[in-house]
Amino acid sequence: MNAEILAVGHELLMGEIVDTNSSYIAQQLSGTGITVRWMSHVGDNIDHLSEAFKRGLERSDVVISTGGLGPTSDDLTREAVSNAVGEEMAVDPDILSWLEGVFARRGMEMPPTNIKQATLIPSATSIPNPNGTAPGWWVEKDDKHIVIMPGPPRELKQVWEETVGPRFAEISGSGVTATRTLKTLGLSEGGIDEILSDLFGRENPYLGIYAHTDGIHLRMIGRGPDQTAAEKVIEPVEAEIRGLIGDSIWGTDDDTPAQRAGSLLIDRNQMLAIVEGASAGALASMLHARPERESFFRGALVPGSGPVHVGHDTAPANPDGAITLAQLARESLSADVGVSVTPINMDGGNVYIGMVSDAGSHVETGRFPRRNPEWLMQRSATTAIVQLMSALSSNRI
Ligand code: AMP
Ligand code: MG
Repeated sequence: MNAEILAVGHELLMGEIVDTNSSYIAQQLSGTGITVRWMSHVGDNIDHLSEAFKRGLERSDVVISTGGLGPTSDDLTREAVSNAVGEEMAVDPDILSWLEGVFARRGMEMPPTNIKQATLIPSATSIPNPNGTAPGWWVEKDDKHIVIMPGPPRELKQVWEETVGPRFAEISGSGVTATRTLKTLGLSEGGIDEILSDLFGRENPYLGIYAHTDGIHLRMIGRGPDQTAAEKVIEPVEAEIRGLIGDSIWGTDDDTPAQRAGSLLIDRNQMLAIVEGASAGALASMLHARPERESFFRGALVPGSGPVHVGHDTAPANPDGAITLAQLARESLSADVGVSVTPINMDGGNVYIGMVSDAGSHVETGRFPRRNPEWLMQRSATTAIVQLMSALSSNRI
């Protein structure tokens, strides 16, 4: 079956938001036997939207859209689908009473504009949206499917997991997919490719390799008649990968370096303090975002630009200076582990990450070309957290 994805909204065409929904849907469909042939962005314009759905019906078996299901007059996806299939929208009493209930539970009266979120056309069934006020539609007509879903990614994901994904699995006869990501550090993409060459190129599970700022990720996609069976397909391959490169794997699925570094510090019963220049608070934000921060993060010093004074001297922008600063963070905030990120990339684009604990000290150097300060901030914070995670897990500090 051929599919196409329509992401709806003026904000996409203005470049104000990035279309993550299409990637999510395409990822979910990959390996299911439903092949995505086109992805388009369409503004909130009734003519353009109607045309996009009509064209979709002509060339694809399945048209999937996100966005444009809100209550306002510029949310026109339902109207466009009605035009494309030539059917009238009518309020569905069951959806209406559900919607009124949603507002009642929020202690609000339902504004009249929301009534259109309770409409259907004769060939559509409603797709429940437990997270919002916009149910989707599943339209089946002349062996074609149109599936319209809400735009907010959290709502889309739930709607997909609960209703749309399982139904597509049934329609395509491909079963359910399970995924598993293994996150590695210290090996190159080519190196991994060589070690795991026997595992690539298989259909089930499919193994993909992706380079990220926190290392190389390996993603397995398994398929089976149900969730348990799909997970079973992945298990032996995961075991084989772990047997071959287990030492380089630092996390799985949604694990992040900040979460991993935090848990390593908690295991050691140690507190962390940082001083960060180039990352200008970005590293502290990452650590603060961890719900368990109180158990491992003491705090941060964020100097302005220029050298940092330590006693009567200034810390040089070199590896020795990085250790001096890490020590400064550790002592002044009474922590066990100190980490520093160079004040600014004064030294020809080098950013030094200094790390100290009672067990020792370690410096890593990142070479970053001068770009904008925002980029440098994010990049040096990511480097620092990855290096900290790596130094803690290898007991270098
Ligand atoms: P809408 O359903 O069109 O009113 O969209 C509501 C909100 O969902 C938008 O303001 C965006 O924040 C988000 N959104 C809509 N479409 C997308 C998309 N394709 N990718 C990511 N976020 C989206
Ligand atoms: Mg919109």
